[in-house]
Amino acid sequence: MLALPCPHCGTRDEAEFQFGGEPAIRPPSAVTDTVWADYVYMRSNEKGPHRELWCHAGGCGQWFVLTRDTATHAVLP
Ligand SMILES: [Zn+2]
Repeated sequence: MLALPCPHCGTRDEAEFQFGGEPAIRPPSAVTDTVWADYVYMRSNEKGPHRELWCHAGGCGQWFVLTRDTATHAVLP
């Protein structure tokens, strides 16, 4: 089981968290459908160190960004 460090509550079990995916910068509202589809659906899905959004839904309810190695699940500083 994965243990994640909430910056507000400390390290907790993965079951208390909701995965929010890869942070993405929202494009302005006047863009083409292709640009909007890329923002909504396309993610890098890289192997190795990866920045991710997580919500401590079963605890404080705060969203935060952490860096995790997707191959080893190690949380990186
Ligand atoms: Zn928390």
